[in-house]
Amino acid sequence: ATPTALMVGTGRGAQLGILIKGPEVLESTRRVDTVVLDKTGTVTTGRMTLQEVYAADGEDEKEVLRLAGALEHASEHPVARAIATGAEERAGTLPAVEHFQNVPGRGVRGRVAGHEVAVGRLHGDLPEELARARREAERNGRTAVTVGWDGQARGVLAVADAVKETSAEAVRDLRALGLTPVLLTGDNRTVAEAVARAVGIGPGDVYAEVLPEDKVEVVRRLQGEGRAVAMVGDGVNDAAALATADLGLAMGTGTDAAIEAGDLTLVRGDLRVAADAIRLSRRTLTTIK
Ligand code: ADP
Ligand code: MG
Repeated sequence: ATPTALMVGTGRGAQLGILIKGPEVLESTRRVDTVVLDKTGTVTTGRMTLQEVYAADGEDEKEVLRLAGALEHASEHPVARAIATGAEERAGTLPAVEHFQNVPGRGVRGRVAGHEVAVGRLHGDLPEELARARREAERNGRTAVTVGWDGQARGVLAVADAVKETSAEAVRDLRALGLTPVLLTGDNRTVAEAVARAVGIGPGDVYAEVLPEDKVEVVRRLQGEGRAVAMVGDGVNDAAALATADLGLAMGTGTDAAIEAGDLTLVRGDLRVAADAIRLSRRTLTTIK
């Protein structure tokens, strides 16, 4: 590949809204046959909103929301932002938090209003009425998290995210290029499969309930099967997987950590541009040969 032709490729990339780290990046896209898509913030908007609040028998919904919202106020996670905003709207001023602790891919803990509070996927056995509320929310494609304090689960919060309007078309574009799209997420399997179905990815190509540190293992496992893997992501959680993939594509709307780890940035956060990037680099390389 001559440097001049590759520079033309990068210039065209900028016009399409693709920032390329260096001309050599285009080389690695040629072999790519599998595209791993992060769910939250990549396939979906990541702008979640609080939908429902359930309290266990004997608990007050407003109190469940108030303590959860206070804690989530300190977290930047999309689930956390939905809960904190919803709590401010519905439950008013939120109490202060001490000893805040973020548990990546699982939730948050801290001391609020004299209680040891936890929000996320941090509670094991749920009372039957909460387990039912959670199943119901997940069947509807919502992310459900539990709220508990002083060692007991006391409520469930359901948040909804929307699939980006462009995601289904992007999946079709990727398939048209002969690539296999797969969905990767830390979220619950039922929710993940609902999002996958909405964009045209079958349940066999869904990796759900994957902890942040294990996302990179999914990329390695696919590489171990002889596949050349592109990864598209936006979160801090995706950085290691973006760096390990043969080609890392970061959403420009995402975190700095993801953008630093990626080889390419999709400036507008439009997933269809992932297909454009791969098409562009193939064409650039064909022209050079
Ligand atoms: P994704 O892979 O979809 O970007 P994450 O790995 O960041 O998702 O999170 C996985 C799951 O962990 C979330 O769906 C949620 O259930 C839980 N979780 C993570 N962070 C939080 C938080 N701050 N509050 C509540 N739940 C959380
Ligand atoms: Mg994400």
